[in-house]
Order: sequence, then C-alpha cells, then structure tokens
Amino acid sequence: MNNEPTKFIDENGLRVDGRRTDEIRPMKVDIGVLSRADGSCYLEWGNNKIISAVYGPRELHPRRMQRPDAAVIRYKYNMASFSVEDRQRPGPSRRSSEISKVSSEAFEPVVMTQFYPNTVIDVFSEVLEADAGTRTAAINAATLALIDAGIPLKSLVSACAVGKVDGQLVLDLNKKEDNEGEADLPVAITQDGEITLLQMDGHLTEDEIKQAMELVKNGCQQIQQIQREALLKKFGQYEGADTEIQSVPLTETSSKQETESVDTESSELISSNILSDESSENQEESGEEQEPDTLDILEDETEQSEDNEDDSDEEDFFVEIVRNNTEGESDDQ
Ligand code: UDP
Repeated sequence: MNNEPTKFIDENGLRVDGRRTDEIRPMKVDIGVLSRADGSCYLEWGNNKIISAVYGPRELHPRRMQRPDAAVIRYKYNMASFSVEDRQRPGPSRRSSEISKVSSEAFEPVVMTQFYPNTVIDVFSEVLEADAGTRTAAINAATLALIDAGIPLKSLVSACAVGKVDGQLVLDLNKKEDNEGEADLPVAITQDGEITLLQMDGHLTEDEIKQAMELVKNGCQQIQQIQREALLKKFGQYEGADTEIQSVPLTETSSKQETESVDTESSELISSNILSDESSENQEESGEEQEPDTLDILEDETEQSEDNEDDSDEEDFFVEIVRNNTEGESDDQ
C-alpha cells in the first residue's frame, strides 16, 4: 500500500476497469476438469486463472499426524512462477504458507471431516495467472472441487475482497486497487453468513469496516449464486442434466473409508444441501436429527422434495448425487 495520489474512480463513479464500486469482476467456472483428481475446478475471475484439485479422503501418513475422529484438511496455495509480471520464485514462501493456513481454516467449519477419521483431504490451489484476489478466487474454486470430490459440506464457502481506493469502499479489488489502494479486506462466508476467513491489510475506520462487511457480503452472495449455478449445470436435476441423482446412505461411503485406502472405483457419494436455500440452522431448528454416520436428514429432504415435486425448482431442491468414478485410484498430484 502507498499513498500516491492516483485516481481510481472517475467522475462517473467508474473504476479503472469500468466497474462500479459494488461490482465484482466476471467469473467463469468449470467443474471436473482434471481426470486424475478426485475433484477439481478451473475458475477465471477477471484476469485471475486458478485451478483447484482435491485428492482424498485417503489415509494420512505419517500416522502420527492422523486424527482418530476426523479427516485433516491440508490446503496448499501456490502461485505458478509465470503467474505474475515478475517471475515468482518457485517453492513455498511466507505468503503462500500464510494463505494456505488461513484457507484451510476457512474450510474447517464446513467440511464434514467427522465422516473420514484418520484420513487427509488434500486441496491444491494453483494460481496460473494472478490479478489480485487470488486467495479468494482459490477458495471459491476449492469449494467446488471439494464438492466434485464427493466430500460432504455443510455449506458453500464464497469468498471476495473489499477495499478502499480514493477514500471509497470498492468490491473485489483488481491488481492496481489492491497494490496501490488504501485497504484490502478478503473475506470468506458460508451460506449461513458465518465468516470463515477475514484478513485486513491497510487502514479502515470502524464505520468503514461495518460498511465494507455489508458490501463484501453482497459480493459473496453473488459468487455463491455463480457457484450454485455451476453445480446445477454439472450435477443438477433440471431438464437436460445427464447425471444420475439417487439417494444413498453415507454408511456405504464410510465403510469404504475404513479400509486402508479409498476405493475410488466404487460409487462415491456427493451429498449436500448446499443447493438448498435452507440453512443448516433452519434444519436444526426444525428438530431433524443428524446422525453422525448416516445422511438421514438428507434422505428426509429428498423424500420431502419428492412429495412436493410440483413446488420444487432449481432453488429449492435437495440434491444427492452418486457419481460413478471410473478413473481408478487417484495419485498424489
Ligand atoms: N502479487 C505479485 N507477486 C507476489 C504477490 C502478489 O505480483 O509475490 C500480485 C498478484 O497479482 C496478486 C496481487 O499482487 O494477485 C495481490 O496480492 P495479495 O498478496 O494481496 O493476494 P491476493 O489478493 O492475490 O489474494
């Protein structure tokens, strides 16, 4: 950050890339792009290009790192050396270690790791081209890659940055705004509004932080919508979808996890209520019990949606997707 007097917003209220202060850059998403990964997603956001790949759950080595009650999420953010103007030095840096740590923590509240004891879920986010907002872009891509891998999530995680240029709050900073502006505040939010990542670089007053949070929440909701649409396109139940939708007890998947390695030739379960507008809080309030090793609640919802078939639309339905993974056992990377 520096304080040189650059003009970031013109007299018409437009930013250097033509956006209004509350607009996000265009986002394009492609799910399932890597055949050797258990789940993957390619995401373009403005000039950012990110690929996220998920491997696992698989047995964690060394065993002393295992958690007997849950899977460990191992998130690795990396910038390719060709992703920035000045060549990025290959290998880990303080910055990439920090981003990997906070991104991993951004997923901890939503990934249902309790179903996969002693295992690791590896998430790799590779930045192919960087133009500010890469950590948030990577979180958005990784969310979809996790779902593509069949790992149950309680919610989507949607991430976006808000910042300050020319004394004004702006959503989703581009590189110039990020590098030369007055503040940068990346945030990740669940569908229930839970904040799972919040960092800040620069200076904002208390009031500005409150306004910034409102602005960024709105940005995250827009991204959530893009994520939902991408999922519906890939796995959805609407006319033209070619993916089989079934209800399968999670125990089928859990028993697989009890074996030494994960059998990726068998059916995998992708189950989630993330396409439903109803928050998990609402489900809890409705008194439905969530068994630790079954997805009764998910099946209940499926039954309900069958009962109310006429009422269901893209926004409401509850999806369970069984994906037959015929790619064979996945490799490390
Ligand atoms: N950047 C760069 N080299 C670096 C780090 C960052 O060129 O070593 C650029 C890159 O375009 C990045 C932007 O500066 O997207 C903002 O970086 P920041 O650390 O704020 O992370 P990001 O906004 O990408 O999450």
